[in-house]
Amino acid sequence: MSFDTLGLSAELLRAVREQGYTQPTPIQIKAIPTILGGGDVMAAAQTGTGKTAGFTLPLLQRLSTQTSRRSAERSAGQASGQAGRQPGGRASAGARRPIRALVLTPTRELAAQVQESIQTYGQYLPLRSAVIFGGVKINPQIEQLRRGVDILVATPGRLLDHAGQGTVDLSQVETLILDEADRMLDMGFVNDIKKVLALLPPNHARQNLLFSATFSDDIKRLAERLLNNPELIEA
Ligand code: AMP
Repeated sequence: MSFDTLGLSAELLRAVREQGYTQPTPIQIKAIPTILGGGDVMAAAQTGTGKTAGFTLPLLQRLSTQTSRRSAERSAGQASGQAGRQPGGRASAGARRPIRALVLTPTRELAAQVQESIQTYGQYLPLRSAVIFGGVKINPQIEQLRRGVDILVATPGRLLDHAGQGTVDLSQVETLILDEADRMLDMGFVNDIKKVLALLPPNHARQNLLFSATFSDDIKRLAERLLNNPELIEA
């Protein structure tokens, strides 16, 4: 099996090739076509299986080939003679470039790692990503969010701090990814996750991907709340 048969664009295949990957891993073979097709996924995957590329590659492809809802609405507004502006005249940078994908991770180390993968695989695509987590100054994160990002990787606590301050807008998120969901629950993030979900568009209006090493009853309950007819993937 080669990467070429999975439906990925030339820009992504180039980045993958430059990483020296010759073959997709089992989870990539299963997850990439499903995610490209727009379906929800519930994947049992340990670290080391290549799960990060398994969700990052199709995510990057979907974001780079589909116009954001906001800009589609703006074009429609302009076509019908309305200015694509917010009341008050001047749209903020973040509003012009809404967050379209949100990746939640349990730890800052994992958040940083996921964003690094997004940057590596997405280096030939015109998409912007940012990572936010606690334990560091909030102002540089606010500045980054203000400039506008397409993909935000975050730990739940700091994300909610930003939401409370009004420095992040999650109302245009099209794809939600929970990475290492079992660890997030083990670390007591269940209420934070519920609060984040309340800030997103309704779950049937987004693509939802849940990755977890184990499937406890708690994870299954979260999956039921979050996923629409998910494809079950085990690798
Ligand atoms: P992950 O399970 O996402 O933490 O990935 C584990 C490691 O596997 C990372 O260092 C990736 O760079 C690497 N990796 C991901 N996909 C492949 C692949 N298809 N071939 C070789 N290495 C890979």
